[in-house]
Formats: sequence, structure tokens, C-alpha cells
Amino acid sequence: MTDFIDVILPIPIQKTFRYSVTKAEADFLQAGCRVAVPFGSAKIYTALVLKIHQDPPTLYEAKEIHQILDDAPIVNEVQLQHWQWISNYYMCPLGDVYRAALPSAFLLESETIIYKNATFTEEALLNDDEFLIFEALQHQSQLTIHQIADILGKKKVLPIINELINKSAVYIKEEIYEQYKPKLVKYVRLHPNYANENSLEYLLEVVSRAKKQREVLLCFFQMNAAKKPIKSKELELQSGVSSAIIKALVDKNILEFYHVQTDRVSYQGETNQLKEPNEFQEKALEEIRESFEEKEITLLHGITSSGKTEVYTKLIKEVLAQGKQALFLLPEIALTTQIISRLQNYFGNFITVFHSKYSMNERVEAWNNVLENKPKAQIVLGARSSIFLPFSNLGLIVVDEEHETSYKQFEPSPRYNARDAAIVLSKMHQAKILLGSATPSLESYFNAQEGKYGFVELNRRYGEVQLPKIELIDIKEKHRKREMNGHFSDRLLKMISEALEEKEQVILFQNRRGFSPVVECKTCGTSPQCPNCDVSLTYHKYKHELKCHYCNYQRAMPNSCGACGSAALDTKGFGTEQIELELKELFPQYTIGRMDLDTTRGKYGYQKIIGAFEAREIDVLVGTQMLSKGLDFDNVSLVGILNADMMLNFPDFRAHERAFQLMVQVSGRAGRSKKQGSVAIQTYNPYHQILQQVSITNYTEMYKEQLQDRWQYHYPPYYRLIKITLKHKDYQKVDAGIIWLAKALQNVFGEHVLGPSSPAVSRIRNQYIKNVMIKIPPKQSLGKTKGHVEKIKNTFQAVSDFRPIRFIIDVDNY
Ligand code: ADP
Ligand code: ZN
Ligand code: ZN
Repeated sequence: MTDFIDVILPIPIQKTFRYSVTKAEADFLQAGCRVAVPFGSAKIYTALVLKIHQDPPTLYEAKEIHQILDDAPIVNEVQLQHWQWISNYYMCPLGDVYRAALPSAFLLESETIIYKNATFTEEALLNDDEFLIFEALQHQSQLTIHQIADILGKKKVLPIINELINKSAVYIKEEIYEQYKPKLVKYVRLHPNYANENSLEYLLEVVSRAKKQREVLLCFFQMNAAKKPIKSKELELQSGVSSAIIKALVDKNILEFYHVQTDRVSYQGETNQLKEPNEFQEKALEEIRESFEEKEITLLHGITSSGKTEVYTKLIKEVLAQGKQALFLLPEIALTTQIISRLQNYFGNFITVFHSKYSMNERVEAWNNVLENKPKAQIVLGARSSIFLPFSNLGLIVVDEEHETSYKQFEPSPRYNARDAAIVLSKMHQAKILLGSATPSLESYFNAQEGKYGFVELNRRYGEVQLPKIELIDIKEKHRKREMNGHFSDRLLKMISEALEEKEQVILFQNRRGFSPVVECKTCGTSPQCPNCDVSLTYHKYKHELKCHYCNYQRAMPNSCGACGSAALDTKGFGTEQIELELKELFPQYTIGRMDLDTTRGKYGYQKIIGAFEAREIDVLVGTQMLSKGLDFDNVSLVGILNADMMLNFPDFRAHERAFQLMVQVSGRAGRSKKQGSVAIQTYNPYHQILQQVSITNYTEMYKEQLQDRWQYHYPPYYRLIKITLKHKDYQKVDAGIIWLAKALQNVFGEHVLGPSSPAVSRIRNQYIKNVMIKIPPKQSLGKTKGHVEKIKNTFQAVSDFRPIRFIIDVDNY
């Protein structure tokens, strides 16, 4: 009887694959272990064991596995179940979920290694390139493809290697290599020969002529009195000598080095008691606890700066006391030192942080800490991908800023929403989940109103500070009266001056980066376009460049029009860079900072700017929507929104909800600690209902009005949406494909199919894009609907003309 295993491969394929294993291997293996397996022609993949059994495959002969990579599972049962749910719900291959879930270092890659055939003697048969490689293998037992490319100084080396194989001069092997490198810290101790306490005098005698070595030894014995391991670096610092001196003592067999594996990230500061909640926080806490008695999911609607974070920390502490883990989800950008140090201040080394700016090695460490349920992993503070960590014992999930779109992954697959996937995860762990926001998503608020979720409100700012006073400034009127200075109204300028004179700080919001989004020739009206995308290039003045914000194409700003040669080039519209420059002229005595994609690259990108603003090194901070994400500054008294109209006119059924959320969140950065703050919103359209609702922070009115629209036009939360996108570099193909697809869908779903349509930017990176949307009415079965879509997709891909078209399914595309 032979044994078999079913595995997931990290490739976009729905199916699992079956391999054969020996009896001993079958006994050793468990679901969740990694195995290296051959797949396709000579490629080796890291597969994950799902099931061990004795049913041979019926359609193919099972291959043997290459090797077992783990002694114990690195993925647990709940995770496997959760991945299955993600794969089913979001209609994506399980292999994609597997690839997204594991830190890439766990997905060992195979590399082809080239060896010399020792029996080969006919060197005369080799041409120059081939001979170079063969010769290199005389000096080196093996070469990788990379190394060969280096030796030959060319990229295309596969044909040469193939020729060498044909001539039997070399042979190849696929090797799997481990990418994760543990971080080792170097310690020193006495050589075992001198391990007894009385050796000090003797040793000092031995090194009596080497003054520095003597000092090191003295210092070592002093430090050793504390009976704690001594880091080599520490000894260097304390004794004030160079590492060479310590090395000399090691060479004399007096000291010896040893290494201990440590985590790259660890907290060394002090910890403090949680803050005492005020009466409103106390009441909210009481209500949340009560609500959790009956319902697993509760929505906390707490206005900006009401102290939601303090409420979360109380609940987390309670869960920890029950011996369970807590997951605290935040939007990527909010995960800066601000929130991390706030939590570390309470929970110290019980926190593991996890986000995309972490290195591969740091992520492996976080994974292992959670897997082993270490003290350090009792609280995970992370961005959306932390839902994939190997929790075994979750008691609570907090989703802060639950309305944030950054919880949704759009590209690549799996296209999941981390908030929704977290709700499912909490069910699987029988844990509680708290969604928090000052501006909840319509879906979550709706679910709370319908009684599906528990609902708790926190309506006062901490410290009884009032919500900021919001003023709408009519810039059409201001233009008419010539009271504009660049993009600033006289009113906004006056407010900025007043705040700065009071030594307070200012935040200015403009949701577009660069200097201006369009450059236009005044003579012929042409604007430079991206050669790869259907969009005009944005002018970045600082670098004197034109850039595409979709594909990153860039080129120098031309001196004259590419079409007619005229030198009269004009810029239209404005971004953060232009606002920054205008401000620098208007307020030369103050420091102006800018926070957008262009200024926050790199691992500590956000942190540098946020830190400088916190330290009051920056007086006015100009930025994009990054500024709206849960940041807490105590000296900001004024927030200005330079142009509200662009957000309102966005062609999307969610535009109004989003605009409301964004403006209320940005406004929420003002007046958080002492006195009431102010907000100025410049607009051409001060009577727009959303702006009216923002101006008095009336969430419920916004909610009611938007909900009516959603009902009338058949959108979520009443209807569900599945969006299908086709992409290909040949326009005709995409067009034919989408027409076929829309018809096929209409045959099944009738009027509930929307489109085909082209998105606002209909070509990106030379790929033409077309969409069609399926609306699913409240009572229609989601499972059946997806079944139909799946079938239509298969028929579509069976048409040979359509096969090269990328077919992207996005469920709940918001
Ligand atoms: P939110 O998350 O609701 O926007 P925060 O939790 O950031 O609000 O709280 C706003 C500010 O009030 C923070 O600076 C926080 O430290 C302070 N704060 C909140 N609750 C308390 C409390 N119970 N005691 C002392 N300070 C508090
Ligand atoms: Zn021109
Ligand atoms: Zn482009």
C-alpha cells in the first residue's frame, strides 16, 4: 500500500496536487508541513501538505516528493480552513492565498545549479563561451545561473548551458535553499579552561604586558559579577577598546565567543499602567462587554479623539488576562511609531508588529513568534496581511478605522477585504471582534442598525474638547471678488497666520500629489500623455519631470510642445507640491513639510515626517489622504481642505460616502488636546449636501441619505457586487471578449449585469481594460451566483482567441 499527500502549490491554480510518499514519510508528516516537490519541467516548489491518505490519483501517476522541509507544521488547521474560505468567497485560487499568507522566505525557491561532468574530456568541442564556463568549473565545484551570467557578462545564458548539457560537459540539479537568516548576537564568556571564579588573578598575570587586554579582562569580570550574559558589543563599549582586542583574548583561549539567535525587533523601554478611562469610555466599555455577551461582532462608533484607542487597550488587556491572543488591525499608514509606542508603553514586549515595510526576516520572526504562541506574540499589531498569521488562540480582534479602503487588497489576487476576512477568522476562533471608526462604512453601520452587529457609541472627545468648528469657504465668490492668492482664499490665509502666530500647527489637505496633473500647450491645446497609459502626465516641479502616476513612467519636462513646437506651456490643476511652494513664498519664516507618496518612500519614510511634525520642527504639513489615518498630534489647531470638489465629483457610487469620511477624518486631526480646533473647507459648491453634513459632522443624516440612493440604484449594502475586469494589450481582443462575456452573463443574470464599460483610465501599462459588473439582489444565492460566474469563466477561457486575456474577478469590489 502506498501513501499519498495532497498539497497546495504557490501558483495560481485552484486544484490541489497529489504526490506519493513512503510509509515513514507519511507517518512523519502532518497537515501544515512544507515539502519540496517537483512540478512541471525540472522546477521545484515549496508545497504545503493539506491531507495525508492512501487514495492514488486516478488521472495521473503521482510523483515522489523531493524532501520534507519541516519537523512540525508551520500552518495550523484554522488557517487552512480560513484560506479555504478566502479562496471560495473571493473566487481566487488557493495557491494565491497560500502565497500571500506565508512570508516569502518560507516559499523556498529552487535554483538551478550547474556541475562539471568529471568524465568529459573533449574540450575541443566547446566554443569560447562554453569553454569559459567549463574552465570556471575546474576551479569551483558548482555554478548558479547568475554566476554564469556574470562570468560571461551577458544575460541570455540558457542556450549556452543547454548546449553544454547536450555535449555532456555539464549536468544540472535543482537545489532548494533557505532564505531566512536568523539574526545572531555575539556574546563572550570565559573559555571553559578558566571557568572557575578564582582564575582572575592568574589571567591578569598572563596578560600583564598587554595593557588593553588587561583592561578588557577587568571590565569583563566586573560585568560578569551581574551573572548575566555579556554581549561582545557591550564589553567593547564598557571597556572602551576595539573589537580586535577582544578577538586577541579569544585567540589566546582566554575568552570565547558564542552566538544566540535573537529577534530583530524588540522593545526595551519601560511600561506603564493603562490610562484611567473617563466616564464615557467606562460606559462604552460596559456596553461593549454587554454586547459581546450576545453578539460576536460589535461596532464602536466613536467620534475622532474620543479615546477609542484607550478603549481598545482595556479590552485587549482583559483578553490577555484570560490567556488569549489579540489582533489589532490598522491601516498601513497608521502603523507608525505613534501607535506602536503608545501600545508598547502599556504592553511592552507582549507585542509583535507586522506590516509591509518590515523586511522578509522580520516577518519570519513575527510568524514564528505567533506560531509558537510566545509571550511576545500575545498582541499582534498589524496591517491587513496580519490576518494570515498562525494564531492558535485568538480571543479578540480589533479593526480600527474599519471604513478604510486600504483593508481591501486590489492587486494581486487574493482580492480580499481584511475586515471581512477578520470577521470570519474571529468566528473560527470563537473570538470577539470590535470594529471601530468615527465614520463607519455604510455596510457596517447598516449591519449594526439591522441588529446583526452590536452597536456602541462614544460621542464626546476626551477631555471635553469640542469637535472642531467647520467653515465652508465659497471660492467661486472669492475668485469673483479677487480675494484669492494662488490657491488660497484670504480667509484661509488669515486663519493660517493666526494659528502660526499662536505657535500652533496647521495641516493642509490636497488629495493629489505633484505640482499639477496636466500640462497644456497654449497654442494647440495638446497635453503630454503617458506612452503606456491613457492618462496625462503629472508635472513634478522639484525634479522638473513629467511622471505617470499609474506606471511610474517619467521624463524631463520639455521646453516646448511636442506637437506644434510652441514654448507656451501652461499647467492646469494643482497638487501638494504646488501648495507647498506657494506656502513657502507666503510664509517664508515658517517650516513647511509635505507628506505624500513622493516624500514617504523607504522603511522609515512616514515616520520621519510624522516624527518631525510631532517634534514641532514643521509648522505646516501639506499632504494627501495619508494625513487622515488615525494620527494624533496635540498642537494642530487648524486643518484646511484646499479643494473639496474633486472628491465629490468622482464617478463612483461610493464617492459621497468616501468624501464625507475623508473630510471628517482629516478635520478630526484639529484641536485634539486643549482647545477647540477649526477647519476651513474651500469649495465651488458650498451648498452640496455632503459638505453641509460634514460641516456639522452629521453622520446619521449622511447615512440615511446615502442609504436611500443605494436602495434606489441597487448598490451595497442591499445588493452585492462582483466585478469582472478583462485586460490585454490588443484592444480588439479585449473589446470582443467583454462583449461576449457581458452577453453570456446577461443570459443568466439579465438586468443585473452592468456594462460593459471602460474605467476612467482605460489603458495602464499598455494593457486595455474593460469591466462588467454583476449585481446580486438580496435574496439571490451567493454560492449559486458564483457557480454560474465560474462556469461562464471556464467557457470564456475555452475560446482560444480569448485565452490570452487576463480575467480578473473581484468580489465585493470596495
Ligand atoms: P481616537 O482613537 O478616538 O481618535 P485617541 O484614543 O487617540 O482617540 O485619544 C485622543 C487623545 O486623548 C490621545 O492623545 C489620548 O492619549 C488621550 N486620551 C484618551 N483617553 C484618555 C484617558 N482615559 N486618559 C488620558 N488621556 C486619554
Ligand atoms: Zn502645441
Ligand atoms: Zn503610465
